[in-house]
Amino acid sequence: MWDVVSFVNTVRVSDIATYLRCPRKLYFRLRGHEEGPTAEYASHLVLKELALSYPAAINRDDPAGFLAAELDRISAELPAIHPLDSALADGAVGDVRALLPGISERLASAAQRIGKETLVGMITPFQVEPVLVSRRFGITGSPAKLVMRGDIAAPSIIRTGKAPENGIWKNDRLALAAHAIMLEEMNGGKVELGLVEYAKSCEFREAAIRSNDRRVVLQVLKKIHKIIDGTMPDKPGDAPCQNCGHAGLCETKRSLASKFF
Ligand code: SF4
Repeated sequence: MWDVVSFVNTVRVSDIATYLRCPRKLYFRLRGHEEGPTAEYASHLVLKELALSYPAAINRDDPAGFLAAELDRISAELPAIHPLDSALADGAVGDVRALLPGISERLASAAQRIGKETLVGMITPFQVEPVLVSRRFGITGSPAKLVMRGDIAAPSIIRTGKAPENGIWKNDRLALAAHAIMLEEMNGGKVELGLVEYAKSCEFREAAIRSNDRRVVLQVLKKIHKIIDGTMPDKPGDAPCQNCGHAGLCETKRSLASKFF
């Protein structure tokens, strides 16, 4: 059993993506400066919940009607699952409702292309949002699902942004590699692939877990542990500072530093 201190020093898989976007952002977040939920984040949560219903929708005579009913259920259950204020939650449900006709169409054509049974087998969860931990590397995370491939549980993540033309995005590869490292430590056995479900475009892509992605994850983890220990990273040249909720803090730190040096 993990104690509280262990979890405080444990990196979350999502921290890897934040670090790669801007390590300073992670520094501030790890010190309690969370950015509040945005409308975009709220829509992401709702669409992710809806995507968990895709396996059931594929087998229905009226997938569009089924997904609409599922969205009503999600709307009612949302306050109990995610702490969002009601205006944000209602806006997000409205945003996703507007996407439903396109999603239903794309889901039906994916089922036709891949085969209904194959697709359902591919995305039906063995477990939803399991908590994974690697004590060895000090990392924790919850993929959207575990899906069975033979007798091995593989991670599946749901993404609500744009899918790349081919394959999966680098951040998705790293997230799968991090989940694979944890699953291997917890269950034994080699996890050789993972699945990314691009919920909006209904693209379901399996990808091999590459050795180099595992290597990058472990390198980034070391750097994040340094940030946890107190090192404030330099501002990267290509940092996405526009619309950054930490811009004020970042500027204060810069001014303080320039007073001393
Ligand atoms: S203002 Fe720029 S450098 Fe500072 S945390 Fe935000 S993105 Fe990073």
